[in-house]
Amino acid sequence: MQELTHYINGEHVAGTSGRQADVYNPATGEIQAQCPLASKSEVDRAIEIASAAQPAWAAVNPQRRARVMMKFVELLNRDMDKLALALSREHGKTLPDAAGDVQRGLEVVEFCIGAPHHLKGDFTDSAGPGIDMYSMKQPLGVSAGITPFNFPAMIPMWMFAPAIVCGNAFILKPSERDPSVPIMLAELIEEAGLPKGILQVINGDKEAVDAILNNPTIQSVGFVGSTPIAEYIYATGCANGKRVQCFGGAKNHMIIMPDADLDQAADALVGAGYGAAGERCMAISVAVPVGDETADRLIAKLIPRIEALKVGPYTSGNDVDYGPVITSAAKENIERLVQTGIDQGASLVVDGRNLKIQGYEDGFFVGAHLFDNVTTDMDIYKKEIFGPVLSTVRAKNYEEAIGMALSHEYGNGTSIFTRDGDAARDFANRINIGMVGINVPIPVPLAYHTFGGWKKSMFGDLNQHGVDSFKFYTRTKTVTSRWPSGIKEGGEFSIPVME
Ligand code: NAD
Repeated sequence: MQELTHYINGEHVAGTSGRQADVYNPATGEIQAQCPLASKSEVDRAIEIASAAQPAWAAVNPQRRARVMMKFVELLNRDMDKLALALSREHGKTLPDAAGDVQRGLEVVEFCIGAPHHLKGDFTDSAGPGIDMYSMKQPLGVSAGITPFNFPAMIPMWMFAPAIVCGNAFILKPSERDPSVPIMLAELIEEAGLPKGILQVINGDKEAVDAILNNPTIQSVGFVGSTPIAEYIYATGCANGKRVQCFGGAKNHMIIMPDADLDQAADALVGAGYGAAGERCMAISVAVPVGDETADRLIAKLIPRIEALKVGPYTSGNDVDYGPVITSAAKENIERLVQTGIDQGASLVVDGRNLKIQGYEDGFFVGAHLFDNVTTDMDIYKKEIFGPVLSTVRAKNYEEAIGMALSHEYGNGTSIFTRDGDAARDFANRINIGMVGINVPIPVPLAYHTFGGWKKSMFGDLNQHGVDSFKFYTRTKTVTSRWPSGIKEGGEFSIPVME
């Protein structure tokens, strides 16, 4: 049994709390490692180390900090296969999908190479007689990030790369369900030249998270995960005076208009609904065909595609479309919700129950499910299932379809498939959802744009990566300066007004 560690001050450090979590190989169902769960004192100690290391790092000029990112990109590419393999072993996703997880994080690191440009302040020459005014973007100090299991490479990099290039130290608390890759990333960025203590990985659960939220040295907290925890972290972090951004769950609708290319829409739905076993916050979980004729034709095209999906372990390479879900508890939750769908009257037109993979009978595999005739009062419509289950809700017309997406409590991503530019434009303008695809099923913005949902999918003001990340991880200070030749004699008692 492998004993995992924390990564503190450039070293693997064994846990001392006496508490541990099991880490599974989801493909076999075996416990393959023990992950230490940090106590408050272990977290506080790491924060102290980060705080001591941060001023020297902030004093390194931005160009040199960016060079660490440049080297980090090179090392991520060098170790891509190794990282993908470690990721698949703990998460279960296929190897190409795991490499994509690393790649999308790497792209944020690439974006961070442009930090010297983004960290430039503004300058006004002669704002008044002999007066100049300029702004500086200064690091916050020590920031922290709490990340989910489903993208153990990409999401940590979304957070720590911009935080660090801005001159902060960073405490990463990854998911205790797949904790190995975050530590590999910390080792790699140190190999790229990052001083010890600037990126530390603390494994843990609620106790570690609460220690972060209650530590006064922590200036900002980023969170990605489920909505109830996002709400808790946002409320607690804000109440403790921290800058907080929290990204929560999702229920992403795809509207299929009668004029859409239905083969294209069906292909898109299968990839977006079942890829990564549906364990993506941008997965499409609701298909909304407009009109019964569209619905009937779409369902007819979806059924054979879904029945042909190959489910299996990551060791099968390119031969599988998706792997197991993360834990047996996740599998049971999905199966329970499928049963609720049946009980509440939805039609299960592709039944993925009782899937068994030969040789992997104890793995956490879930077959692909397709529901038709789902209504908006059903649990399978209202709740995030986070599994390979697609619900079809038939809409009479476009207004009814957009109305569903508008009224749903989540607002992460959405998509419309149509050949009608007017409908697409209207949808993009009116929808109250953060990321919109037009004939694109998973509209995840690239690193130089920003990522974030609306409604109960996001709590805070600034998005992930892109220019928002430089705002989130810096504070603006504005300096007004006047040198002796510009200073009049005598004090000024009214508010200064520029002449
Ligand atoms: P989760 O909320 O269970 O866990 C996320 C993190 O919070 C983990 O690090 C975990 O250790 C910690 N945590 C868990 N319980 C806690 C508690 N009671 N108090 C404090 N911290 C706690 O989420 P998950 O299952 O790892 O990830 C899946 C969820 O993440 C889904 O809801 C998915 O939609 C969401 N997600 C959202 C985005 C996005 O950008 N909006 C991206 C990826 C995943």
